[in-house]
Amino acid sequence: MTPSLVIENARTEAGEIVSLILDNDRIAAIGPNATAGIGPAVPHFDAAGGLLCPPFVDGHVHLDKTLIGLPFIPHIPGDTVAKRIEAEKSLLRTVALPVQARGGALLERLAAYGTLSVRSHVDIDTDIGLKGLEAVLSLKQSHGHLVDIQTVAFPQSGVLRNPGTAALLDAAIAAGADLVGGLDPAGIDNDVTGHLDAIFAVAGKYGVGLDIHLHDGGALGAFELRQIADRTAALGLEGKVVVSHAFCLGALEDVDFGHTAAALARSGVAIMTSAPGPVPMPPVKRLVAAGVRLFCANDNIRDAWSPFGNGDMLERVGILCDRQDFRSDADLAAAFRLATHAPAEILGRPVGPLQAGSLADFVILPAVSLAEAVAVRPLDRTVFRRGVIIARGGQLVA
Ligand SMILES: [Zn+2]
Repeated sequence: MTPSLVIENARTEAGEIVSLILDNDRIAAIGPNATAGIGPAVPHFDAAGGLLCPPFVDGHVHLDKTLIGLPFIPHIPGDTVAKRIEAEKSLLRTVALPVQARGGALLERLAAYGTLSVRSHVDIDTDIGLKGLEAVLSLKQSHGHLVDIQTVAFPQSGVLRNPGTAALLDAAIAAGADLVGGLDPAGIDNDVTGHLDAIFAVAGKYGVGLDIHLHDGGALGAFELRQIADRTAALGLEGKVVVSHAFCLGALEDVDFGHTAAALARSGVAIMTSAPGPVPMPPVKRLVAAGVRLFCANDNIRDAWSPFGNGDMLERVGILCDRQDFRSDADLAAAFRLATHAPAEILGRPVGPLQAGSLADFVILPAVSLAEAVAVRPLDRTVFRRGVIIARGGQLVA
């Protein structure tokens, strides 16, 4: 083995100063004296005591919706999900850049901040058909050297209220989408059983997972969560189903919360939260204590749903900490893992400590602990992908 790069003075999460030897896309050795005897002919990188972290995983984005790459477009208000769906459709018909350009620009931004894996929902409806999916799938070719991309066939306009969508979801999986999506079985389709029958039928046919947007609140949302959990277990899809948002979990009576959390834990249904604005939010510690897997993600980044977001997962983790009143080092470190280890496990990405044999995918940032990284959110970070520096200081390198 001829080392491709030596990294000195990196700090582990435990505070130990270590060196690393990279063998192209893998870590060949890591430890306090790992580089002893390596000659000066091998390229060296001085981490200057920076913290060595796993890369971020953004487990919920919308590459087809983002307006990044365009001049700032003022937000179009809409006070219901249905109104916002219509506003978005009319806006996206007018924008000058195609999905490949906007989604590609967002992927470049995510990679520059250290996010190396994403799950993107992609709108599937009877207007757009599979065109958005085909565009996002093309980003795997054009941008796969920066970010690994999973796709969810997302029925943004509903399934039953937009007849023909169920067949399109089936066609989307056949065409290469990784998971089946869903959207508010009650709030959008007004038919919990019919909506879940349709999307679970496609998932069962192909043996793929599901990732379902659920904004329905209160006891109704909790009922839907338990229905999703029951169907997940019945189809043997434990560990392959995510419910995104699940605001209802933040507004339930204790008994209803307990039953619902237990059902999610039993069926391995995970919860994604973006720590959103003035709506109830899933209580992170209570859910984790109940055995529910949970992760955080950005969701809408500069699109028709939200004018906000820069794509930086450290910013998202900070927002989550604010909303959950996390202040201690232990809480901040746990929140950091909601943007790294937890979504990596749920998306099937490499999980676990950086060690000999691991992929050389990591971020080095100027902090002495995960808590400091979350508190300070430094932009000055160096992103390694497959053993190569792809970004420094929040900018991709040439
Ligand atoms: Zn979403």
